[in-house]
Amino acid sequence: MKQHFINNRWASPASGESIPVVDPSDGQVFEAIARGNTADIDQAVSAARAAYEGDWGRLSAMERGRLMQKLAQKMSDQAEELAQIEARDCGKPVKQARADAAAVARYFEFYAGAADKLLGYTIPYQNGYTVLALREPHGVTGHIIPWNYPMQIFGRSVGGALAAGNACVVKPAEDACLSLLRIAELAAEVGFPAGALNIVTGYGHEVGDALVKHPGIDHVSFTGSPAIGKVVVRAAAENHTPVTLELGGKSPQIVFADTDFDAMLPVVVNAIVQNAGQTCSAGSRLLVERKAYEEVLARLSKAFSQLQVGPSSMDLDCGPLIRQTQLQRVAGFLEEAGRDGLAIAGQGRIVADAPSTGFYQAPTLVRDVPPAHRLAQEEVFGPVIAAMPFDDEAGAVKLANGTAYGLVSSIWTRDGARQMRLARKVRSGQVFINNYGAGGGVELPFGGVKASGYGREKGFEALYGFTVLKTIAIKHD
Ligand code: ADP
Repeated sequence: MKQHFINNRWASPASGESIPVVDPSDGQVFEAIARGNTADIDQAVSAARAAYEGDWGRLSAMERGRLMQKLAQKMSDQAEELAQIEARDCGKPVKQARADAAAVARYFEFYAGAADKLLGYTIPYQNGYTVLALREPHGVTGHIIPWNYPMQIFGRSVGGALAAGNACVVKPAEDACLSLLRIAELAAEVGFPAGALNIVTGYGHEVGDALVKHPGIDHVSFTGSPAIGKVVVRAAAENHTPVTLELGGKSPQIVFADTDFDAMLPVVVNAIVQNAGQTCSAGSRLLVERKAYEEVLARLSKAFSQLQVGPSSMDLDCGPLIRQTQLQRVAGFLEEAGRDGLAIAGQGRIVADAPSTGFYQAPTLVRDVPPAHRLAQEEVFGPVIAAMPFDDEAGAVKLANGTAYGLVSSIWTRDGARQMRLARKVRSGQVFINNYGAGGGVELPFGGVKASGYGREKGFEALYGFTVLKTIAIKHD
């Protein structure tokens, strides 16, 4: 059994219990992780507090940055090992897991460089005063990580928090912990002080809940579903703990007839197929100007029919979904679409070698999805794209903004003025013009509006969220 990693040491769970780890490619158990509880969280929070008030908190911003750079380098050196761990644990095609390993190293590189550039400012006030606005760390931050991109989401969340000077307690998803346990071990190896980075594994409703409610936690960063996001905010409210929420989306790709289709098509396919569609920012809705609708669908249908799905080790276009219940959920959406008479316009293929015990779903293009249909409104979190036509700009904006979510949007057109008009009208945290940024862009602030959450991670902006502004007014005359 893999134990928790607390205070730079492996720590056995107080419960003595474990949770089996399943390989999504064949459905077989291959490892076990610790089933954490409140006692383990107590231990991790105490360790983090001691580090914050001790060896970690004493480091200068420059020294923190240097340590983070060492870890970035170590993760780059060990990238293949990390990728293989992640590929098996999450069922990712190896090339996707390699991209994730490169991304976590890049997050730490980016935030390492930012650590000593997090400036405060001075405020002109009454004569006789000097007023400073200082950015201070929260103290001990809690990080709840989902299973879809453990390394990447750890990188963007914990990277920013550490750079700002916080000590961290991380709760990975019960389905995918292994890469983060290894990274914590690497952090200890490169010299992170004990307690600066702690990992406690277990179920969300047990150990996740204990983390959010712990009075020693000064800030919570949560990435996951809107339903659990609400639970987390309510629990955090008990101690008035601030929360950053990233809750997914139903992100539209808006395609006008003047688009360069050759450039657009592979990007649209990748934005829904990447990580088997289990991406918060997946491009899961395709809105196409009516006069180009049939042509775009015909070309996309052909592209979908060539997609192959199989075990992570085969490194195809798409791996399995994370678990059986996720497969059932995605299949349920498609069954409902079938019952409602919606047509499948294109579908990939599960290769014959894929074990029948794995959790495979063929990528699917569904056409003419009515805007109010569940498939056009809810996050499927699988490789399913819902296509629908629009007639004009106003119709495109109405469709784009017509869900509860607002994470990412993409606008495909050669018309520059239209690009800006629409970019200003769509309601989402990120807008891409003639490209799509699912998962990419360490430097780009990322987060949502509406049910997609609030607060920003990634980029320099994330650092502000991991600090508290303190105003110091000095009267000297
Ligand atoms: P998904 O539907 O993608 O599994 P969840 O929102 O259920 O997303 O899970 C995201 C993360 O939140 C996981 O690490 C999970 O363990 C954790 N989690 C689930 N329930 C709770 C809870 N009640 N309190 C805190 N964390 C939770």
